[in-house]
Amino acid sequence: MATLEIRDLHVTVEADNATKEILKGVDLTVKQGETHAIMGPNGSGKSTLAYSLAGHPKYTITGGTVTLDGEDVLEMSVDERARAGLFLAMQYPVEIPGVSVSNFLRTSATAIRGEAPKLRTWVKEVKETMERLHMDTSFAERNVNEGFSGGEKKRHEILQLELLRPKVAILDETDSGLDVDALRIVSEGVNRVRETGEVGTLLITHYTRILRYIKPDFVHVFSAGRIVESGGAELADKLENEGYEAYAKHDDVDT
Ligand code: ADP
Ligand code: MG
Ligand code: MG
Repeated sequence: MATLEIRDLHVTVEADNATKEILKGVDLTVKQGETHAIMGPNGSGKSTLAYSLAGHPKYTITGGTVTLDGEDVLEMSVDERARAGLFLAMQYPVEIPGVSVSNFLRTSATAIRGEAPKLRTWVKEVKETMERLHMDTSFAERNVNEGFSGGEKKRHEILQLELLRPKVAILDETDSGLDVDALRIVSEGVNRVRETGEVGTLLITHYTRILRYIKPDFVHVFSAGRIVESGGAELADKLENEGYEAYAKHDDVDT
């Protein structure tokens, strides 16, 4: 069973000619089949955690360890991490002009599965998954994220999740900016993957509303670069009622 283990992770970023420590000792274990919600105020370092796990070059690991099934993730390049089974759905998906969705998905699936998916079953799989996500199949011929609305970008992230079937999926604010229908459609996609029992999910969110659709096994409160409290789904109810105020004193609420 796949396990992602994060131990005492410290991360800095260069900003305005200064080195700023953003992550200040994150400890977390995510096992295949489990869903963990990470909840915290803006600026607490949630996306920094997601990017650091994915291998974004802007973030410098200054301490701690990350392993996937005992393998050192921090030693791996970004593509090695993806092939090892890590997946990141970005908070702000980037546009890739000149690369069609169809080409992008097939190239990614080929890299991750180690062989090109059989064309006939692949086309069917993509089409059916797009239909379940209420994405018009004409999106396949468009450039990745170019001119997509916020909601369309998030559906495209979940389309990748469903097709690439990672061991550990990090979903960074996949719920942000979605209306209620899109939130339900995206959540159903996450739940389909989850129900396979083959993915560990790290659901990063600022709001509790997505947790009405995706029931977490564990909830962690993230504040000022660390997990400050962990519990079960009931912790989300507490946050819904009380907000982050009790935790958020040192977070930058402007970001
Ligand atoms: P969250 O996702 O919880 O809103 P972020 O991880 O985006 O928080 O940001 C945490 C802090 O780190 C903020 O103060 C933010 O300005 C800073 N930060 C994050 N990424 C960068 C970056 N690439 N360059 C400069 N500062 C950054
Ligand atoms: Mg933010
Ligand atoms: Mg963020």
